[in-house]
Amino acid sequence: MYRGKSILELRESLDNGNVTSEELFGSANKLAHYFQEDYNSFVTIIDKCKVKRSNSLISGIPYALKDNFSTTGILTTGSSNILKDYVPVYDATVYKKLKRAGGVLVGKTVLDELAMGGTGTTGHTGIVRNPWDKERQIGGSSAGSAASVALGIVPFSIGSDTGDSVRKPASFGGIVGFKPTYGLISRYGMFAFASSLDHVATLTRNVRDAAIVTDILKGQDPKDMVTLKDDGKKYVDTLDNDIKGRKLFYIKEICDLDLYKDSGDSELIEVLEKFHELLDKCREMGFVVEEVSVDKDLFNAIYPTYMCISCAEATSNNANLTGIQFGPRGEGNSIEEIMFDARTKGFSELIKRRFILGSYILQKENQEKLFLNACRVRHMIVDKITELFKEYDGMILPASGGIAPKFDEKDEKLSDRYLLLENHLAIGNFGGFPSITLPFAFVSDMPVGINITGGVKCDDIVLNMAERIEELTGYKDIYAKVGDIDV
Ligand code: GLN
Repeated sequence: MYRGKSILELRESLDNGNVTSEELFGSANKLAHYFQEDYNSFVTIIDKCKVKRSNSLISGIPYALKDNFSTTGILTTGSSNILKDYVPVYDATVYKKLKRAGGVLVGKTVLDELAMGGTGTTGHTGIVRNPWDKERQIGGSSAGSAASVALGIVPFSIGSDTGDSVRKPASFGGIVGFKPTYGLISRYGMFAFASSLDHVATLTRNVRDAAIVTDILKGQDPKDMVTLKDDGKKYVDTLDNDIKGRKLFYIKEICDLDLYKDSGDSELIEVLEKFHELLDKCREMGFVVEEVSVDKDLFNAIYPTYMCISCAEATSNNANLTGIQFGPRGEGNSIEEIMFDARTKGFSELIKRRFILGSYILQKENQEKLFLNACRVRHMIVDKITELFKEYDGMILPASGGIAPKFDEKDEKLSDRYLLLENHLAIGNFGGFPSITLPFAFVSDMPVGINITGGVKCDDIVLNMAERIEELTGYKDIYAKVGDIDV
């Protein structure tokens, strides 16, 4: 009965007295347990309902939180063995704000270990499966957060997004993923991965719910020095604004069908065909949509630039995971031996590979050539897009070149599709631009997302445009109706 409902639908049922928040929690809790074995959304499912009512729109509404947000007294693992028994003694600002607003925590969700990676397969408690097809990935790193919303367990969840970690799984899961402007939401208490790229982001089933949650989370926090002064805006208030004349661009080098005609990649071609159909509908609605051409080399550079910067920052940020302050203690007779043992046993292969890369990039003799050059290229990309945002309100692109991959599918990392279509979402992190993904098509019975990215601090405009486009897609409020359960 309450499965798959949006925040506003649940709000109405609560306000009408048709249901209590305890009942809503009970239903979400049942769903969480029911789907856990098959989909593995959660590291921890909370079985005790704690409701603190407020007059906010999410008061009494269940939600899920990625397991890289600190929660006092509740296990917080980052889905890593190195933190498998870590119980924080303080709350992340986001968690504090949601508690204050009356949100009811249903569980802590599985991520790719320490939020690195994008497959949902590297968490220490096992792989997360895609609710639309169990044989496929949901993507990551906010894998469990996306799966719990796509299964209809909770109407919203919180994730983190450093390169695409909310917006890519949103695309694979047929839901909405919104990463606001850098600094809009405090990251205090969220495990740092790459601080210059890290954002708190939301997963919901429609754009309006994304605005509702962002309105609650935004605001300056002295505990996160990059947080912005409150802009005083309520994003839900401007969702209905007229979009006539709003200007969108897409990038020829990424979405020109002719470029891929002979590739034999039928999935990609179908995504692009449907993308261009959607653009026509946007034009009919009153948007101005134009094609722009950008130096392809700049886009080919996104992935290596992202890897250089994120691995370097991650290596430095995670140097505190020594097996001494937090997590299981390593064995050995000296501090070095204890750390060596804890880190050897505590990290999976992907994390070790990234720390080796990061250490290499940060070595004195490599800093100029690798780290600082990557920072320069990042600047060039951001400058180019910022220049376009002077003329346009947003950039519109498919969030991915295809549907969620199967577990054994490997990315062809040097292909145009990978370098261009699978990595452009990192532009949003490079520039701190607000960026949203919402479902716009189905290909081979799997959802595909469209992404809209706008200028810094134009979150209201991005959400407003996305809500209008949501009307055109016909895929608002969808979720995977699997399982034989109705609660
Ligand atoms: N998939 C990207 C990575 O591998 C992004 C991760 C993220 O946004 N946290 O790092």
